[in-house]
Amino acid sequence: MPNALPNAVVVGGGMGGLLAAIRLRASGHDVTVVERLPTLGGKLATYERDGYTFDIGPSLLTLPALIDEVFQLVGTSLNEQLQLHRLDPQFRYFWQNRRAVTVYDNPVDTASAIDAMSPGSGGQYLQFLKHARRIWSISERTFLAGPMTGAVSLFRRMDSPRDFRQIDAMRSLAVAAKKHFSDPLLQQWLGRYATYSGSSPFEAPATLACIAAVEADHGAWYAHGGLGALRDAVVKVATLNGVQFRTNTEVLRIEGNKRRVTGVRLANNEVLTAPIVIANVDAEHLYTDLLPQRKTLKAVRRAGRSTSGVIVLVGAKGTTQNIVHHNVWFSVDYQHEFEQMSKGEMPEDPTIYACVSSVTDASQAPANCENWFLLVNAPAGAQVDTETYGQWLIGRLATIGVDLRDRVQFIETIGPTEIAHRYRSSGGAIYGTSSNGKRAAFRRPANRGPRKGLYLVGGSSHPGGGLPMVAISARIVANMIGHDLRVNPKSR
Ligand SMILES: Cc1cc2nc3c(=O)[nH]c(=O)nc-3n(C[C@H](O)[C@H](O)[C@H](O)COP(=O)(O)OP(=O)(O)OC[C@H]3O[C@@H](n4cnc5c(N)ncnc54)[C@H](O)[C@@H]3O)c2cc1C
Repeated sequence: MPNALPNAVVVGGGMGGLLAAIRLRASGHDVTVVERLPTLGGKLATYERDGYTFDIGPSLLTLPALIDEVFQLVGTSLNEQLQLHRLDPQFRYFWQNRRAVTVYDNPVDTASAIDAMSPGSGGQYLQFLKHARRIWSISERTFLAGPMTGAVSLFRRMDSPRDFRQIDAMRSLAVAAKKHFSDPLLQQWLGRYATYSGSSPFEAPATLACIAAVEADHGAWYAHGGLGALRDAVVKVATLNGVQFRTNTEVLRIEGNKRRVTGVRLANNEVLTAPIVIANVDAEHLYTDLLPQRKTLKAVRRAGRSTSGVIVLVGAKGTTQNIVHHNVWFSVDYQHEFEQMSKGEMPEDPTIYACVSSVTDASQAPANCENWFLLVNAPAGAQVDTETYGQWLIGRLATIGVDLRDRVQFIETIGPTEIAHRYRSSGGAIYGTSSNGKRAAFRRPANRGPRKGLYLVGGSSHPGGGLPMVAISARIVANMIGHDLRVNPKSR
């Protein structure tokens, strides 16, 4: 590949950093990714024990086309690199009144299942999907199409005021859910999509309803071997295309002067010189430690952290009837659950998400066993006693759903404190910044940093957390760098 362009350093080897690195390499930059952990992938991480494999970060892949787009830039494809499964069914949702509904890959099948649980609601679901699809198509060409520097950047990309009305940004997802569905259970189901960005349905805009359409139309995906296989494929493609990696290497500071960045200083005092620095770290860590900036830090804090979570990994003997790959057991009172979290408390009746990937992929657990990845929402910064929480959660699950107690081979628990330490994410926030509030979309740290040559990619910057958003942030940043170099070719 040509080497006429300025070299770049990416701080942090999370998915946003890796995808940005491949994109820049495809354009001809020399790129080095510096990661403090021994492994790459950031929150897309795995844990293995006694023949079990767990994805301990993302377990649901949506919009894999966004990663394929990056692979295509370097002459390969996701299909060439790994085996993807489009899950069907996608999810099974359970309520404590013993009602349950299965969501399928085909929305018509889902509508029938919803109607069987709640007569009349199947039609409401199909009507709702039309609305959610409109939001997604407008969001793709506006909010997600480039950097966001305030409401003006959004309005500029809109065709008319109608676009703004249709994205439904002025009411909360919970309020909109009451308009779309008469059954309170389905209102709760729709509200759950706020948690895909670590937000509360009672505070996040109803725009997030579009995630339901993305899942319904573009599928819920799994990579054979676990999502760790996706990470491995991304690392392999980056390596084969000449991205350099420095793992076990911490960046201490971003170097430069008041106007522009000139590289990064590592913990061993070595300096990597580069006119382009892409920070793939939590924005709070960036502006507190790597490039202390009081004013910018204040703005970052105003954006608000996403929720954290408590992860409970269970190796379980035997197999379970009536579950699918992704399962959710809802709390009785969703509003109370989020009110408790907004006060910094752990919910006493948490909604429990369980990914049991051995249902789809026998390689993930020993024969006749299951790998249960349980996740409950927790407020960022919550103190959780990980010695006892796992047992408690398994007891809770036994009361409301599946009794694993006699089948447990081991339990491992990871709480917000461990998540914070592992990834240097503020308070253990799992999605970076939240989408709570009408202004959240404009408060996220910008992809362009306050110094020339500095760019931000990943969950805490625009457009937010979750693998698809992080992949979009990599696209936005790579395009921005290309644009900056075209406008100012002297910086080459
Ligand atoms: C439990 C959990 C469940 C999730 N579930 C899903 C899901 O089902 N679907 C989905 O799409 N998303 C999910 N997510 C969110 C998704 O994992 C993240 O949004 C995404 O992986 C974040 O990528 P990132 O680019 O922001 O980088 P991160 O993953 O945040 O990586 C940042 C990297 O920077 C490194 N770093 C930090 N400071 C320094 C430094 N000073 N020097 C060098 N390196 C540094 C860190 O070690 C880390 O590796 C989940 C996350 C978690 C934790």
